Amino acid sequence: MKCPFCGHTEDRVVDSRVGREGEFIRRRRECLKCHRRYTTYEYIEDVLPHVVKRDGRREPFDRQKLRGSILKACEKRSVGVPAVDDVVADIEARLHERAEKEISSLELGDLVMEHLQRLDQVAYVRFASVYRQFKDIAQFMDEVKSLLKEDKPKASSPLSRPRPLVKAPK
Ligand SMILES: [Zn+2]
Repeated sequence: MKCPFCGHTEDRVVDSRVGREGEFIRRRRECLKCHRRYTTYEYIEDVLPHVVKRDGRREPFDRQKLRGSILKACEKRSVGVPAVDDVVADIEARLHERAEKEISSLELGDLVMEHLQRLDQVAYVRFASVYRQFKDIAQFMDEVKSLLKEDKPKASSPLSRPRPLVKAPK
């Protein structure tokens, strides 16, 4: 480390401390030349893709923010916190698997909606209304209508339909 006071590159670590949740290591260093002290933080390199927002700004994936927005959509619904945490964990796992370094906020929203659609329809509509930023009530109603149409049994979605316990005779 280059000393911020004199620019010398040799130092000794006088104290190391792990962050409360182990998310970083804080080191107190002393410059070997001027003997002044400074602090460095060591983090794991960003392994999750950055989220590209609508306006083009990029921000690091924020697990708490995602969790908060899902919890809000599920407010007063019968979706428990563990189910929400499962959704967040699943999305995080999918982000880890991606090769791309970026994900658009729209794509991230789609991932959430995929889960919410299976979990709770009301939460799904709530989330969609925030994330798709409906301009007016008409646009919102269109979305709800298409949602209701989609709700009819779908051949491609085995998860949403209970399987018959007994096979029908041929
Ligand atoms: Zn120094």
